[in-house]
Amino acid sequence: MSAAGAAVPLRTRAARRATLAVGALSRRLHLGSGSVVGGRVGLALEPRLLERLGRDRPVVLVTGTNGKTTTTRLLVAALGGRDAVATNAAGSNLPAGLVAALAAAPPRRPAVLEVDEGYLGRVVAAVRPQVAVLLNLSRDQLDRVSEVRMVAARFRAALADFDGTVVANADDPLVVWAASTAPKVVWVGAGQLWRSDAVGCPACDGEIVFADDGDWWSDCGLRRPVPALVLHDDDAVTAAGEHVALALALPGRCNRANAVVAAAAAGELGAELGAALGAMAGVDAVEGRFATVEYGPVRVRLLLAKNPAGWTELLELLHGGDAPVVIGINARVADGHDPSWLWDVDFEQLRGRTVVATGERAADLAVRLRYAGVEHVTVPDQLRALVQRGPGRVEYVGNYTAFQDLRRSLARRPQVVAATAAPLHRASDTPKAVAASPPRRRGDGVSALRVVVVHPDLLGTYGDAGNGRVLAARAAWRGMAAELVLAPSGHALPDGGDVYCIGGGEDGPELQAAERLADGSLARAVDGGAVLLAVCAGYQLVGAEFPDASGGCRPGLGLLDVVTYKGTGRRAVGEVLAEPRRPFDGLIGLETLTGFENHGGLTRLGPGVTPLADTRLGVGNGDGTEGAWSGRVFGTYLHGPVLARNPSFADLLLATATGTTPAPLDDEEEEALHGERLRAAGRAGWRTRVIGRRAS
Ligand code: GLN
Repeated sequence: MSAAGAAVPLRTRAARRATLAVGALSRRLHLGSGSVVGGRVGLALEPRLLERLGRDRPVVLVTGTNGKTTTTRLLVAALGGRDAVATNAAGSNLPAGLVAALAAAPPRRPAVLEVDEGYLGRVVAAVRPQVAVLLNLSRDQLDRVSEVRMVAARFRAALADFDGTVVANADDPLVVWAASTAPKVVWVGAGQLWRSDAVGCPACDGEIVFADDGDWWSDCGLRRPVPALVLHDDDAVTAAGEHVALALALPGRCNRANAVVAAAAAGELGAELGAALGAMAGVDAVEGRFATVEYGPVRVRLLLAKNPAGWTELLELLHGGDAPVVIGINARVADGHDPSWLWDVDFEQLRGRTVVATGERAADLAVRLRYAGVEHVTVPDQLRALVQRGPGRVEYVGNYTAFQDLRRSLARRPQVVAATAAPLHRASDTPKAVAASPPRRRGDGVSALRVVVVHPDLLGTYGDAGNGRVLAARAAWRGMAAELVLAPSGHALPDGGDVYCIGGGEDGPELQAAERLADGSLARAVDGGAVLLAVCAGYQLVGAEFPDASGGCRPGLGLLDVVTYKGTGRRAVGEVLAEPRRPFDGLIGLETLTGFENHGGLTRLGPGVTPLADTRLGVGNGDGTEGAWSGRVFGTYLHGPVLARNPSFADLLLATATGTTPAPLDDEEEEALHGERLRAAGRAGWRTRVIGRRAS
């Protein structure tokens, strides 16, 4: 550690000056905040600049899927504010952004930096922080960040011989597993409403049991550690039982959780609990989040939610209100290119309110809202969307780039643009999902179409449970009685279903699901005449063989004559466009299929199956074809969910299940989404990529 500025190597000083100068120039030319480009130049001149600037001071790193920017901001407040602490307030959380934040502050000034989940290891090694804060881990941008357990495993490796203190959320099993290799951890009971990514234990692949009182454990010994500080309603409660009231200006449970974690981290830097929480009370907006702004006749509260876990917290915040909710969805790099996650958000909670679907992927959202039974209207332009429902209060919730875009547009103080009256889609009833119900045998005389979603707790990572919702709703809209059963892995698979849907998931849970289904339950259902739709991990495991996380070969259920092996190329991630062979040899025709793929395994088809389609864009099976079918069993790599993006496929399955041709529906919104995705694929160029062919 250098004692004085004079000891700073010349190269570091030059690189720091260049970082600042380029950043300032970029701001002057209105090219952006300048933090990223300045940092990049600095790092080009001195690749060890992050280490050089970071090791000279106490550093706190803040990471996790949700709440990084807000927690960072609260922690800065607790440590004396922007004049006392270096920080990347605008959320530039890759190394270039961190370098820019450090370069802008005098040496030795403490730093609080939010770090992208993918970079924690690299940044810990470079700056050797005093404290690393782990907030939570859940599915987010699966195409870029990778599956959640892989992120947790990387955290674990990065923290194994960490010589600082980890401050970590005791209520998130993935975080606990990731942090528990660290020599010193301060556990915080911050709570966690979203649990769907931690049903399978990351340590042993067994089950994690969540008790009503918030405790949780797994048979292997992984369990909730005893926290030193707990969020209890509006109080932070210490291990000694002392209650300190939070009194935040920021709304919502999630911000109270962020605040107690920030308070624990501030404590590691010497701040007293009451004073730290008191200083946080003054924070009322964070980079536009939670701010209320006027735009013409509307008062808009700006909220950000970019994944199902974030939405779970926000739905609680929105609960009980009646203002229209404008939801902006984009799917650029920083959002993740696949908005299938919209199907994991419980939008059903917004029934009774009007929602305006906006942003570049408004069409995906509109279809999701239709199946959620939520009254809505689609207005792709975000500013027009704000005023669509007339004067008054509006709640805006955007995902990452949609939110940034809207803030930028609002900052330009635009003229209010009148919204053209778009048609309001009234809510139509959709079947309520029931969580496992008593078994019913075929031929019981019950005429309801029964759609069973197989183990969504294990195989629900990519939004594929939406396929079950689509089928049940499309049956109900045609006047058929329909029942949707979500069948979790802890119970016997209900029999008597007419259609079974099994979805995609991570390698570990995929294996767990295969082991459970080896009891023959799904095979019996198929033998009994049920239709099966199997997506990605589900497609792989209903075949003869599939690879586990380490590439070992595992026996599948043998319901489709396919074999899946680990591809040798890069993971297949991106939009897919696939042309069914014409005429499609099924009960009714299939239109061009669109979807999003994200898989490491590739699939070889045996003589007992026919490809579902030929790929025009994307990888699919890996040999120019996509999916497979035989009789009443259909496999595909497409997420989206595939039936939401391809209504003709949904109707093919219904026709197969009922033996009748389904009556036409008003598919205006589904057709709009399908058409928009075809056009997007056209812009990307129709091409077939074939990767990772098996050597033999
Ligand atoms: N884990 C499997 C693979 O990577 C399946 C992924 C998925 O279901 N999206 O191939």
